[in-house]
Amino acid sequence: MLLESEGKKIALDAGIKVKDQDMEVTGLPKLPESTRVDAAIISHAHLDHSGFSPELNRRYNTPFFMTMPTQGLVDLLVKDAKKIDPDLPYGREDIDGMFRKTVTIPYEMEHSIGNVKFSLHDAGHIPGSAMVDIKANKKRLFYTGDFKVNETQLLSGIKQPEGHVDVLIIESTYAKRYHPPRKETEKRIIDSIKKTLKRGGHVLFPTFAVGRTQELAMVLAEHHINAPIFIDGMGKTATEITLNYPRYLKNPGKLKNAFENLKQVGKDKKAAIKEPSIIIATSGMLEGGPAISYLLTLNDLKRQEDVDSAVIFTGYCVEGTGGWLLQNKQVCRLKPRKEGGKVKMIPINLEVKYEPLSAHAGRSELFSFIEKMNPAKIICVHGDDCEGFANELQENGFKAIAPQIGESITI
Ligand SMILES: [Zn+2]
Ligand SMILES: [Zn+2]
Repeated sequence: MLLESEGKKIALDAGIKVKDQDMEVTGLPKLPESTRVDAAIISHAHLDHSGFSPELNRRYNTPFFMTMPTQGLVDLLVKDAKKIDPDLPYGREDIDGMFRKTVTIPYEMEHSIGNVKFSLHDAGHIPGSAMVDIKANKKRLFYTGDFKVNETQLLSGIKQPEGHVDVLIIESTYAKRYHPPRKETEKRIIDSIKKTLKRGGHVLFPTFAVGRTQELAMVLAEHHINAPIFIDGMGKTATEITLNYPRYLKNPGKLKNAFENLKQVGKDKKAAIKEPSIIIATSGMLEGGPAISYLLTLNDLKRQEDVDSAVIFTGYCVEGTGGWLLQNKQVCRLKPRKEGGKVKMIPINLEVKYEPLSAHAGRSELFSFIEKMNPAKIICVHGDDCEGFANELQENGFKAIAPQIGESITI
């Protein structure tokens, strides 16, 4: 979103869309030729909020505002995005340029861009994630980014914002779904692990590098599982970056111990499957990363030696992604190595489960957040059914809308 106020144009997040065909150039926002962007506030590091930032820097030499962990994690994720999709319009020099043009700011400290004042509050979503509280032209705008109200193993959750808010821009990811109680989900995951290990199998967790890898490592550490836990892929570096900013974590010592509890896989991937084990590997939606090669290895082990392994997703997979295909069609999609090659679908004969350790507010968290804040107007964004959410809020007496892409709203 571009906020225009007091003669400034400020981007609230600058993401790219992760699509079924990796991140294509079509996954980029389309801005009119005449656009300029004077500054950008990035709520958190996930690519759907940050992946367009180097392009803003390339086009407009935009300065950025974000927390310190977000800066570290954005740098990791955008470099990886460029590796996965070389067609992205920006290059290494734009990523470095963005890094240099970033002002890092802590939570709860007011800053200004021209006459627009803003502060960041802990969003409880991933390390460094922020909700953006803006005061401009005598109005107060509150943008949630992605947020989680309740605490998790990794983060403390949010502090409910106080005072009158004119416009709330809220994410709608789980507007229609309740989260099962976290402790029950954790118990089901641990039970599945124990069952699988007992029958001599391995448990593969295809996991997002940022946030979920750390959360899962902490859940596993708490339950003292009697089997080696391996970590492979970008989750390692993401955890190291996260540990550099202990102030942004609920219990950094606990994360450090959980991370030390993990065995890092080097070049020899076979080391992870010598005995019944747990493997945490990127990517969370099976769109790349070592998780795919582990999935194929475990599938072969089942066919050749009847080793009965399991795959557990702890994060949501967008429709059409590799993770979605495995959960819904029981296949592993292999993309062609060369341009013009064929996509292969390999049938997978393994138990596949979805046990969400979600980092988003669930339906009841969203509604109680809104009721406590009681904003004058609500703008619903970032969900599968923003319109349905806005309609429901209207039925409950709120003024709510779900704008289309490209729509302008005057406040
Ligand atoms: Zn996010
Ligand atoms: Zn998001």
